[in-house]
Amino acid sequence: MTPPPTHTFVCPECRRSIEVDDAMRATLLETGCVVCGAPVTEEDVGGAPAMS
Ligand SMILES: [Zn+2]
Repeated sequence: MTPPPTHTFVCPECRRSIEVDDAMRATLLETGCVVCGAPVTEEDVGGAPAMS
């Protein structure tokens, strides 16, 4: 079993930390923080997917 790819989103405004998958990551980038509505950048959601 392979765990789904996740990213750790840390809001620059409210400092809330949330584990998100790729779909949620895209939603955050599009609509902003789900908690406080602050704009979200690529850096806030863990940057590029981890490649090994
Ligand atoms: Zn926030």
